[in-house]
Amino acid sequence: MLKDQDRIFTNIYGLKDKSLKGAMSRGHWDGTGAIIEKGRDWIINEMKASGLRGRGGAGFPTGLKWSFMPKESDGRPHYLVVNADESEPGTCKDREIMRHDPHTLIEGCVIAGFAMGAHTAYIYVRGEYMREREALQAAIDECYDAGLLGRNNKNGWDFDVYVHHGAGAYICGEETALLESLEGKKGQPRLKPPFPANMGLYGCPTTVNNVESIAVAPTILRRGAGWFSSIGRPNNVGTKLFMVSGHVNKPCTVEEAMGIPFRELIEKHAGGIRGGWDNLLAVIPGGASCPVIRGEDMDDAIMDFDGMRDKKSSFGTAAVIVMDKSTDIIKAIARLSAFFKHESCGQCTPCREGTGWMWRVMERMVKGNAQKREIDMLFQVSKQIEGHTICALGDAAAWPVQGLIRNFRAEIEARIDQYTYNALDHGAVMEAAE
Ligand code: SF4
Repeated sequence: MLKDQDRIFTNIYGLKDKSLKGAMSRGHWDGTGAIIEKGRDWIINEMKASGLRGRGGAGFPTGLKWSFMPKESDGRPHYLVVNADESEPGTCKDREIMRHDPHTLIEGCVIAGFAMGAHTAYIYVRGEYMREREALQAAIDECYDAGLLGRNNKNGWDFDVYVHHGAGAYICGEETALLESLEGKKGQPRLKPPFPANMGLYGCPTTVNNVESIAVAPTILRRGAGWFSSIGRPNNVGTKLFMVSGHVNKPCTVEEAMGIPFRELIEKHAGGIRGGWDNLLAVIPGGASCPVIRGEDMDDAIMDFDGMRDKKSSFGTAAVIVMDKSTDIIKAIARLSAFFKHESCGQCTPCREGTGWMWRVMERMVKGNAQKREIDMLFQVSKQIEGHTICALGDAAAWPVQGLIRNFRAEIEARIDQYTYNALDHGAVMEAAE
């Protein structure tokens, strides 16, 4: 279990003073200028050495991503864009940072911006996050007043931070759709290449990072890469905000060490499974797009990127959705299919047509009004969507369905048998009545 002194987020529950004064008293904004003085290469190398992997779901090494930005400007400005569009069902960690611990993020923006040669950061906040945006803006205003942002600030690197409020589309969490939206266009993903590091916002070099990835950077640089990489296990290091929702006794968001066993996470922080461990049916470990895992398979699960890959799922954002045996698992996954169908931007055919097709079949599977051979057909169609689209929404829509079929095929077949039996039985009753 993570020791208190190793926590990066010191006010994640909002119980302490979130103002600049309060944040400073807890060690934030301490020596920011001195970190910047160490230079761009030092910061990027330290971030690489820390082993931090992006906290937005994909797990790409953060230091490496920063290093993709051009070393020298060719005349175009560089931009840092923070993805605060947190819209994946189950994921609710960035909002806690923005509304309760916003200075971690703002300080992170200054340091990350410097490391990539950017003088401007845009924070793209999810449309529904009104209070979060207000808290973040208030914190930014405090920083301007205190001379920590703006021209000739105390940190020695001119830097502006703008908050942009989205309009509530899930797809704007995809980095290039986010950039389109930020430019005032329809939020639709761009074809890559060119990648944002070469041609991002307004055609300029841009790096898009998740809120948590940026917010942890200052503490990593203050305490050293060695400290961060000593937590967790190789390739899966550091601390992480876990979000536990669903059928646990105490749903929560908690900062823990990467690689914490699933059982420990649930027992120590979430008050155990509702109705006990025997009542656990299934877990979606990293947000709605990650394949569902059977409850019994989670017994020995290690909560990190490799641990979830071993379980044929994905760590995603560490948004753990727990479902007990009262759940209609087919209906639960069908609901996710409806979500992804609704959120498809419609640019590519496999996603636009495929998400709707999968959802309609899933709706029939919920009732059992299907043929068993359609289960394989559904799986095959999901494979035709996966990897054949412009952005990852196609994959995100396919994986929950694939996870359901892989792990709960017997349940789907039993539902079909039951439906057929009822239909036959009903037919017999009708016949007898005639
Ligand atoms: Fe749009 Fe879906 Fe294609 Fe992504 S995969 S670009 S959401 S149609």
